[in-house]
Amino acid sequence: MYSLVIFGPPGSGKGTQSEKLIEKYGLTHLSTGDVLRAEIKSGSELGNQIKSLIEKGELVSDEMVQEMVKAFVMKNKDAKGFIFDGFPRTVAQAQWLDNMLSEISTSVNIMISLDVPDDELRIRLLSRGKVSGRQDDQDEAIINNRIDVYKNTTLPVMEYYQKAGKAKGIHGLGTIDEIFGRITEAVAL
Ligand code: ADP
Repeated sequence: MYSLVIFGPPGSGKGTQSEKLIEKYGLTHLSTGDVLRAEIKSGSELGNQIKSLIEKGELVSDEMVQEMVKAFVMKNKDAKGFIFDGFPRTVAQAQWLDNMLSEISTSVNIMISLDVPDDELRIRLLSRGKVSGRQDDQDEAIINNRIDVYKNTTLPVMEYYQKAGKAKGIHGLGTIDEIFGRITEAVAL
């Protein structure tokens, strides 16, 4: 298995680059944001709780997300590898992921971190909001909170992977193909 964490602030292009990575390497994609939005759509009580957090730009609890990740990984044990997109977002999630993957004798091989300045993130998220209808992409205060949560809670995850010698910073400005070219240089597959 070859597993990759795609990391970066909201609007940095994780989902877009994941699509290209799936196509090129045949990895199995897990976007925790997509799984959470599917739960909201189902109209369940859990979905309602998730909705109120996402609409404030807050993180969902580690336990809730971890349970979803575990179920997904166990269902896809035969995958060539995984792309974890939007996960881990806390150091606790990163530690948990290492433990969970070691149970199936595998590990995260590389963490790709997309570097994009805040001003560009705001522009991208607001324009995505017009097309996708995602409410958390349409309100500047929510966007700013997500960027703050990223800096305060999620950024330490980068250090976690740096210490493990797995973090690769990628310049996240340019065309989609230019950025993808930089990623494929870093991915040793
Ligand atoms: P983006 O990275 O573009 O903001 P995502 O689709 O990855 O969007 O995530 C949307 C929202 O879902 C986040 O703002 C957060 O509330 C929630 N979420 C996604 N992944 C996680 C996670 N690993 N831990 C906690 N909350 C998460």
